Amino acid sequence: MRYYSTRSRSNPVSFAGAALTGLAPDGGLFIPGEIPSYPEKVKNSLGTMDYFDVAVETIRPYVHPELPGSVLEDLVHSAYSFAAPLVPVGDRLVLELFHGPTAAFKDFGARFMARAFSYLRRGEDKPLRILVATSGDTGGAVADGFYGVEGIFVTVLYPKGRVTPLQEKQIAALGGNIEALAVEGSFDDCQALVKAAFGNEGLRKRLDLSSANSINVARLIPQAIYYSAAAGKAFAGKTDPDGEATPRVSGAYGTSKSTVACGVKAGSPITFCVPSGNFGNLTAGLYALKMGAPIRGFIAATNSNKTVPDYLESGEYHARVSQATISNAMDVGAPSNFERMAAHWTLEQLRSMIRGVHVSDDDTRKTISAVHGDCGYFLDPHGAVGWRAVDILSAGNVPVTGPLAVLATAHPAKFAETVEPLIGSIPVPASIKTALSRNPQSRTIPAELSALADTL
Ligand SMILES: *Cc1c(COP(=O)(O)O)cnc(C)c1O
Repeated sequence: MRYYSTRSRSNPVSFAGAALTGLAPDGGLFIPGEIPSYPEKVKNSLGTMDYFDVAVETIRPYVHPELPGSVLEDLVHSAYSFAAPLVPVGDRLVLELFHGPTAAFKDFGARFMARAFSYLRRGEDKPLRILVATSGDTGGAVADGFYGVEGIFVTVLYPKGRVTPLQEKQIAALGGNIEALAVEGSFDDCQALVKAAFGNEGLRKRLDLSSANSINVARLIPQAIYYSAAAGKAFAGKTDPDGEATPRVSGAYGTSKSTVACGVKAGSPITFCVPSGNFGNLTAGLYALKMGAPIRGFIAATNSNKTVPDYLESGEYHARVSQATISNAMDVGAPSNFERMAAHWTLEQLRSMIRGVHVSDDDTRKTISAVHGDCGYFLDPHGAVGWRAVDILSAGNVPVTGPLAVLATAHPAKFAETVEPLIGSIPVPASIKTALSRNPQSRTIPAELSALADTL
């Protein structure tokens, strides 16, 4: 596969080139030259194939021929030791993306990316330096994914005081090849610092720099897997049993009081509601749709950082400063993957695939309480934004119809500070118990390139 910058169709690079440089030299993001289609045979059996086979078939065309088949299979097996169950909750489905080691969906991208980098860098003697800005969950997933990987150093930048104590432990307590920097500023400042470092010729000459944000294609592409697997399953009329970390009151399968009724129905393509911040997750969903997975469309659910819903409504794109909310992994006013969406598709095409909705903190809290009370299910604040977005659309002029899955992007125990005052204590999965027992160690820096450069 050839990759191009979102800003130019010249100078294509290989998968390795796109993955290891992260950002294109002209400041654009890498996108595949074309979005491949699943072979007919694969498309028709997505619902019966096992998860590993869906994963291999989804990634293969994007990495061919640089990751040979057997290497890709090994990578996928080692990266995905956990499931992404599609479970019924009340009147709809929830696609649980928090069964990985850091209990958030970013494990899917980060674990694949770490293994792909390690393979692509085999035989190099200069270490690779990965810079990653995080609003919370990316940092933990990337730190965990790369921890102990030889020849790679990771520097994680996070907004000081704006991540939860658990997130800070996941980001800053590993040590070894993982360094954590608490930046005096917002997530957008962290992201701007990373961009500035990449744009600085001196730094680029001195270090082999790479990124690990959702701007990296090696993180973006594997996120298409769970959409295709879940869409195939739902199209075959199937759901999954609860997983070990499923946060459900034992035996509670109650119906919520809303009138959505979007359970599985064989032969009906599914709608996914995607709680969104930087829009990497949603962009990967669009890739799965274009590859041929049976997906009807998407709901882009944001918190009050509603840059993309506003764009879909008005047709005008205005990036803004991020606002702090209780779904802090989505506090993004200038979503980086928007540039990718706009490079692939026109406004009208995007409108035909995505409906945008934004949700207030107040509604998010009410939703966490209501879903727990009605359905016996614990939502985290991000998943609750998604759940509520469906309610808002359903109450409007063009209700949601057909099977629908809300993506639960994090386990509620990751956001216990917000969730427990509303609904009481949450069952804590093993992955989180391990992280909670650690001590964070980070350095604080001002949001200035010179301060970052000094640490590298
Ligand atoms: C990162 C994150 C999101 C937002 O995903 P994007 O790909 O940035 O849109 C949503 N929920 C959680 C829990 C996250 O960690």
